[in-house]
Amino acid sequence: TTRQLIVAEKLAAIGEITAGVAHEINNPVAVMQGNLEVVRSIMGERAAEAQTEFRLLDEQIHRITQIVARLLQFAKPEEYAGYVELHTPGDVISDCLPLVEHLLGKSHIEVRRDDHATRFVSMNKTELQQVLVNLIVNAIHAMPEGGVLTLASRDEDVRGRSGVVIEVSDTGIGMPEDVLRKIFDPFFTTKRDAGTGLGLSISQTLISRQGGTLTANSVPGRGTTFLVWLPEAS
Ligand code: ADP
Repeated sequence: TTRQLIVAEKLAAIGEITAGVAHEINNPVAVMQGNLEVVRSIMGERAAEAQTEFRLLDEQIHRITQIVARLLQFAKPEEYAGYVELHTPGDVISDCLPLVEHLLGKSHIEVRRDDHATRFVSMNKTELQQVLVNLIVNAIHAMPEGGVLTLASRDEDVRGRSGVVIEVSDTGIGMPEDVLRKIFDPFFTTKRDAGTGLGLSISQTLISRQGGTLTANSVPGRGTTFLVWLPEAS
């Protein structure tokens, strides 16, 4: 659709500028990080008095480096993509769960698995994990009071093409239509300072590159389902 084209163009344009900007940001941030350590050691025991401030500085520097790393990964995929391997969706889902355990542990979220996919997909494992972890973390954020996180997979053909679907659904806050329309736009977030708004746009790009699709359905107050469709490995 025209809308997808506009988003694709926007992403491509961002990709071009981003790599340069990201590299430019990395250097001053590294200098800040290094000097923060120096100040801390000069202060010696008195550093404890500014414990909170140091922690905030550490956290914010970490946040900048994370944003820059994600931007670089998006802007220069060929440098970061690595190689493509064969996986069954169930295996990839299993490998994602330890990465979000720290979030699930403190929550009242029940995880349900419903693996039926038997076909293999071909994709870089880190990238597919990045997509699924991003969907799972969003689902967890959508269920602050707890709920059910369902991780399902099944073989499914789309328009005569053989493939698999990986489903990540939550029973959380859901989204109204006007939010749902924008979630794949770069930098769109409803999480203010806590979000970058890059997770879903990057995820969609990574899945599209493998010939797949990433789509979402949502009902406000009821929950959201994300569907990743990937072609079967030939
Ligand atoms: P971020 O999580 O940093 O905001 P994303 O691109 O991952 O960036 O998500 C964009 C927006 O989509 C979120 O800010 C949120 O409003 C919405 N969203 C994503 N996943 C869900 C979900 N499972 N339930 C409700 N809203 C969601």
